[in-house]
Amino acid sequence: MLAMRISLILLLVALLAGCNQKPEITAQNRPNLLFIIPDQFRTHALGFMKQDPVQTPNLDRLAEESMVFVNAISNRPLCSPYRAMLMTGKYPFKTGVLTNCNTSSRKYGNYLRSTETTITDVLSENGYNCGYIGKWHLDAPAGPDVDDWRKSIWDAYTPPEARHGIDFWYSYGTFDQHFNPHYWINDASREDTTFINEWSPRHEVEVAREFINNQTGDQPWVLFLSMNPPHPPYQLVPDEYLSDYEGKSAAELLNRQNVPETAEAAYKHVKNYFAAVTGVDDQIGQLMEFLEEKKLNENTIVVFTSDHGELMGSHGLMQKGPWYEESVRIPFMIRWPEKIAPAIDSLHLAVPDVMPTLLGLIDLEDQIPADVQGINYQNLLLGDGKIARPDFNLYLNPRPESALGGFRGFRSNQYTFVLERNNEGKVVDKILYDNLNDPYQLKNVAASNPDLVNRFSKQLMKRLTEIDDFWVEYDRSL
Ligand code: CA
Repeated sequence: MLAMRISLILLLVALLAGCNQKPEITAQNRPNLLFIIPDQFRTHALGFMKQDPVQTPNLDRLAEESMVFVNAISNRPLCSPYRAMLMTGKYPFKTGVLTNCNTSSRKYGNYLRSTETTITDVLSENGYNCGYIGKWHLDAPAGPDVDDWRKSIWDAYTPPEARHGIDFWYSYGTFDQHFNPHYWINDASREDTTFINEWSPRHEVEVAREFINNQTGDQPWVLFLSMNPPHPPYQLVPDEYLSDYEGKSAAELLNRQNVPETAEAAYKHVKNYFAAVTGVDDQIGQLMEFLEEKKLNENTIVVFTSDHGELMGSHGLMQKGPWYEESVRIPFMIRWPEKIAPAIDSLHLAVPDVMPTLLGLIDLEDQIPADVQGINYQNLLLGDGKIARPDFNLYLNPRPESALGGFRGFRSNQYTFVLERNNEGKVVDKILYDNLNDPYQLKNVAASNPDLVNRFSKQLMKRLTEIDDFWVEYDRSL
């Protein structure tokens, strides 16, 4: 009798606990993860952001179904350092990947260590089948030592022991021939690479479909789809995607008030850049349709983001690296129909937060390596309780040849603040933009706001101390 009463109570408790709760994640029903990351895709180039005059109907639709982080930035807006932060959940001072991997930075040990624990290592150890398609750019290439990065070799073969738990490998280091990409496929040797005569995003989506089709359903899977476009060469884009921009002049397309008429390269390339954006959008749309056909939508987490932005003539500059909005701001949207309610969020999401947040979402919180520096925001995504929101997001631009030099700063709700030091550690420039009142960052107001600069300098140094930036060791102002 007593046993019966206890089991009834237990049943009642179990039923009550089950109320208002979403299905639990168990080892058997862990979600799949599709991480889509084109290169150099600025957040302004998403149609729904209403900044660039671009066509991205598929990503607009994905955004409506996602939690969208409109303040996401690339803390170090450059390929390799971003990718190392993404994979490890750590800032560049911990990974040693301070700049791009090539034969001129190799002497500084600038590559991803095989001893690092990456997100794919953790997922692989927890039963995931891991795939990686496209650009990797985390290994030091073989070749003679050079000092000038422009004379460097960039592309690198990744030996199996450096693949961090990734079983399906269809990748290369850096190779910008979008119409003739090449891939090292699975156990192919360094000498045995495969060239493809097709626009790389189109080919890679075909390979992604094949990867997903080949999953047996016994294991959850994770797939990184790392497309190279809309990265240059801008002109390597199929004609069909240019048609959306026919009849529009470069001046109409370059609608930002910080693009001077002298920005010749932008006038030459803007149409191609937006066409590549539309082409990437089209390919992603096809992959989303495929997921739906395969009935994988509900239990697949889809992330869309990029490694950094594209200046495209803003401030007379091209590409990326500086602290300007067009360079640092990246798309970040995450869709998981079973668990994440669509929303727009203003969190200062940092790149190292991505790895622990995804592991948290998948219920592998206890598997997040102890030395991860990013924050697990699973509670925000799942709508479970309040979270502490940082006041700003770091901007980092270290120099591997000088621990004392380079740029450090942050982007807050209102300001972008940056200090520059020369290689002797002396502050040589202070930069302050009021992004609310000057969204195009046309006027540096540092000189007229010494109190703000002083306060921000202290806040910056405190945060840099927390992430073990070696700048702090040499700070002459403390
Ligand atoms: Ca890049």
